[in-house]
Amino acid sequence: MDSCAPAPAKPGDFIRDIIDDDLAAGRHQKVITRFPPEPNGFLHIGHAKSICLNFGLALDYRQRLPGSGTRCHLRFDDTDPAKEDTLFEEAIQEDVRWLGFEWDGLYHASDYFQKMYECAEHLIAQDKAYVCSLSDAEIKAYRGNVTTPGKPCQFRQRSHDENMDLFRRMKAGEFKDGEHVLRAKIDMSNPNMKMRDPLLYRIRHTAHHMTGNTWCIYPMYDFAHPISDAIEGITHSICTLEFENNRELYDWVVDNLIDYARFPSRPRQFEFARLNLNYTVMSKRRLLELVEGNHVSGWDDPRLPTIAGLRRRGYTPESIRAFCAGVGVAKANSTVDMAQLEFCIRDDLNQKAPRVLGVLKPLKVVIENFPDSRTEELDASYWPHDVPKEGTRKVPFCREIYIEQDDFMLEPPKDYFRLAPGREVRLRYAYCITCTDVIKDGSGNVIEVRCTYDPDVKPGDNPVGRKVKGTIHWVSARHAVDAEVRLYDRLLSEEMPPAGKDSEFLKAINPHALQVLLGCKLERSLETASPGERYQFERQGYFVVDPKDSKPSALVFNRIVTLKDSWARAQKK
Ligand code: ATP
Ligand code: MG
Repeated sequence: MDSCAPAPAKPGDFIRDIIDDDLAAGRHQKVITRFPPEPNGFLHIGHAKSICLNFGLALDYRQRLPGSGTRCHLRFDDTDPAKEDTLFEEAIQEDVRWLGFEWDGLYHASDYFQKMYECAEHLIAQDKAYVCSLSDAEIKAYRGNVTTPGKPCQFRQRSHDENMDLFRRMKAGEFKDGEHVLRAKIDMSNPNMKMRDPLLYRIRHTAHHMTGNTWCIYPMYDFAHPISDAIEGITHSICTLEFENNRELYDWVVDNLIDYARFPSRPRQFEFARLNLNYTVMSKRRLLELVEGNHVSGWDDPRLPTIAGLRRRGYTPESIRAFCAGVGVAKANSTVDMAQLEFCIRDDLNQKAPRVLGVLKPLKVVIENFPDSRTEELDASYWPHDVPKEGTRKVPFCREIYIEQDDFMLEPPKDYFRLAPGREVRLRYAYCITCTDVIKDGSGNVIEVRCTYDPDVKPGDNPVGRKVKGTIHWVSARHAVDAEVRLYDRLLSEEMPPAGKDSEFLKAINPHALQVLLGCKLERSLETASPGERYQFERQGYFVVDPKDSKPSALVFNRIVTLKDSWARAQKK
């Protein structure tokens, strides 16, 4: 097996163990999960891990608990109107569906703004929340740090009546952004900093893409998330490890509201390790910077680890799901090698992508003893022997063909088995040719190779009495289809983006992550290739017809992945 092969998907993981225990103990009779993206950017491969987990759990347990109401919701966590947009919501839905999942209900945190507001008033009435009028900087200073307890501010003593009055006036729009916030009244010296009177609501005079100008106060994540989960009856609320310290607050919110709000479930939060990949960036903030700074062509640029980028690059949903299954669900953070993702797409396309011939950097070869008027239609198989599929096409063979520039050398070393003066090579599915002469331009570059072919050796056969070691690919010059080919490589040239200031990672962008080749020569059968179709160009890699830019009269192909892990080898050198 390839060294990059992911470990086979484990039948269980710690989340499934927890759910099994809950079901066995009778704590739940069904499983309800949710995938809660904030609509402030496109999804990336890290989100795919969370999607596969949450939707995958619902699929698995629905089979085990038919008729139980087991399901997975898609919920937009839209509590920050400044950054969110309907466009992102549409893209997220497209990506989840493309990955092969369907939600059992589409929700927004904003659906519950009224309920959340009522919950906040309830906490005020219970003396569990207060309006604080410190500035952001003062709030931070009063909060202390891990070694120093925080201290209460003068506003903590406000009466219920004053708090209620101020909160209602915050809602009514009487104050400016930042003038007041609503805070939970918990414990300013709690060892868990998240429990030091966390913010519940803030003022934002910004229109919201769903609720328009109905609200000018918006709930914070730590307040909105547990309430949304509880309202929807979520049983297992799965998030990434950095929210571990928020769990205590999550529980505080649910426990203090459950009797009042009559939630249908008592959800619990569980954390798993987020997916990190080397040679790329994954945070939405950084992706946004790449997009807005025009370092890439958009959210679906094939260099990006976004789902839209991977789709345009030619990745299949199956390969991404296999990757996520291989990575598994763990409790400890780690970084996964990009080679593992590449293994998964190669593994999938090996069975799916027909083999064809394409010359990316053409060099003309004239076969002098082949009549100019003749065209031979040769049989070529779409599949190698180890793929159990059938199908062939005809490839035309003529006097003038193109081969890859790299497949010819004027002064080759001994172990070079391709074409060189005086040497013989086999053309894939066709004849054996021997180089007899070369034609050079003014600067001494070879611009044409002259050859003869052996008419006594049938296409595909071996000559008798001599060994032809190399086989190269080619296309007929007269029948070739011109195409633009975009060679993609890793986004960053460094394994890890440099730490430090935010934009520092831009320096690590791999300048060779996109190389555009014009005038590539592809075999005739590709003339009708349609957007999204994937092929293996023999000896070159897997390619997809670009879904956006390719036109029947001007084909554009994207390289999905090379055939072998050439990156690892190049790095070693
Ligand atoms: P980022 O940090 O990349 O900007 P985010 O966490 O802010 O992403 P959300 O839209 O809030 O993005 O994420 C939606 C869900 O996807 C959350 O439950 C989050 O835990 C999960 N998620 C985000 N990034 C990853 C990742 N790298 N690996 C696994 N799950 C992730
Ligand atoms: Mg987030």
